[in-house]
Amino acid sequence: YDDRDGKIWMDGKLVEWRDANVHILTHALHYASSVFEGERCYDGKIFKSREHSERLITSGKLIDFDIPYTLDEIEAAKQATLDANGLTNAYVRAVAWRGAGEDMGVASAKNPVHLAVACWEWGNYYGDAKTKGAKLDIAKWKRPSPETAPSQAKAAGLYMIATMSKHAAEAKGCSDAMMYDYRGYIAEATGANIFFVKDGEVHTPTPDAFLNGLTRQTVIGMLRDKGITVNERHIMPEELDSFEQCWLTGTAAEVTPVGQIGDKTFEVGKLVTDLAAEYEALVRA
Ligand code: PMP
Repeated sequence: YDDRDGKIWMDGKLVEWRDANVHILTHALHYASSVFEGERCYDGKIFKSREHSERLITSGKLIDFDIPYTLDEIEAAKQATLDANGLTNAYVRAVAWRGAGEDMGVASAKNPVHLAVACWEWGNYYGDAKTKGAKLDIAKWKRPSPETAPSQAKAAGLYMIATMSKHAAEAKGCSDAMMYDYRGYIAEATGANIFFVKDGEVHTPTPDAFLNGLTRQTVIGMLRDKGITVNERHIMPEELDSFEQCWLTGTAAEVTPVGQIGDKTFEVGKLVTDLAAEYEALVRA
């Protein structure tokens, strides 16, 4: 991804893609003092753009820094990046981090906070699983307690176990891994939230140890508008066997059906297929 044409917005300037670099003593690189957003622009408009920018600012505060740009400046930076790359349908990545500076220890209050925005075309996050249904492994790593890590921050540090879990899953021929939380409840996938269907009702884990995704919230609203009951609750692994359909939600994943978790298979049924089409219509409305 590094050596190509294009523009990246960095600290207020549009720079050449291949020149968008940081110093090796960047605090974030050593201590994960970084937060980011994943967004999608559909037909020229970023879906829930302000909500994503607000979450970026909040994530920064949760890991103890203030992003030195206002909400409106972040919004303008994202649009400028899309415009500079001539993209109207794209994935947008905003990232804020502690840079190099006076401190090279764990504390870094004096080091400047930076912001960058990149965008690129990104099709189905799970490839043909988008229609066929994704196969998920069960991760050995657990989502930490909110007293161990700031689980509502979209912070780089929380993705270390996600990357390891997804690598292990891919090595077994799976698209992703489902993670349990520190108590053993079903939590989410490595970069997407999870939903189940049983007897016409939807069940999804309570987001008390993982990111309450914007797509998750959108999809819950869509289901309730259709008159479908959505139960947000703690879900035990033993319950997997009783579920008929399953899907993942996320900005990158959109609504992706799940066909298998471990040995348990699910049908790619009407509820999830309709929901995926309705989500696609909503984001382009
Ligand atoms: N959980 C994790 C760990 C994620 O990385 C993401 C993607 N941002 C989500 C859930 C879904 O969040 P959203 O719907 O806001 O993209």
